[in-house]
Amino acid sequence: MTEKTMGRRRRYRQRHKRNMTAALVTVAFILAAVMLIAIVACLDYVNRIMPEEMLRGPEPMEVGRDRAPVNTAPQEPYEDGTEWNLRLVNRWNPVPEGYTIRLKELAGGEKVDERVYAPLTEMLEAAREGNLDELPRVISGYRTQEVQQGLYDDEVNKYKSQGYSEEEARAEAGRWVALPGTSEHQLGLAVDLEGATYDVFLWLQENSYKYGFIFRYPGSKTDITGTVEEVWHYRYVGVQAATEMYEQGLCLEEYVELKAGAEA
Ligand SMILES: [Zn+2]
Repeated sequence: MTEKTMGRRRRYRQRHKRNMTAALVTVAFILAAVMLIAIVACLDYVNRIMPEEMLRGPEPMEVGRDRAPVNTAPQEPYEDGTEWNLRLVNRWNPVPEGYTIRLKELAGGEKVDERVYAPLTEMLEAAREGNLDELPRVISGYRTQEVQQGLYDDEVNKYKSQGYSEEEARAEAGRWVALPGTSEHQLGLAVDLEGATYDVFLWLQENSYKYGFIFRYPGSKTDITGTVEEVWHYRYVGVQAATEMYEQGLCLEEYVELKAGAEA
């Protein structure tokens, strides 16, 4: 083999190598382009076939009282002009017909009006300091008319089985369980709490107003609230109202009356 021939072969190999590299780069480029197009097409397809709700995530649940037609929430003052956070519900003031709520589920499964979810969560977190560093539990939040009816019926039956007449049993049961339609739990604004220690209730009595919640049924106000003392029951009214009620020692009935007097 001559020097000349060997040089030709080397140049040929170098040229061949350059051609191969160029071809590989082109193929890789084409593959990348094809994959990009496929991904874009796929995303577009998903967008078109998936219901919008699935892409947005679940909507807050809407619940109509007593199977009333579901309505989107009264986020503004209810139609009678009452501010939602100051709505008074007790044995003399039932939950308005057709009242609707947007609920949000708490850890543990109970639900509350979505507007009180954040302040409640914040309060429970802070209450750790009065509860051996444990998070207090919400044992009862929103209740439907049916659930409240069931609780009331059970209580009436308990007294009847002890020999009370129907009338006596109803009167006695009414002292402990709100008549269906007159429980704040049906508003989704009240919760019953359970702590690791009784001290948590003392902590709540001194601090809940900072989060907009009130100790709703103190024993000293039973004549006005119509409900015997319930240390576990807390009701949202908003920080301003709760602070005023805390500082002036007023229950919700007294506060609402005071406000109505001031406006008149
Ligand atoms: Zn309660």
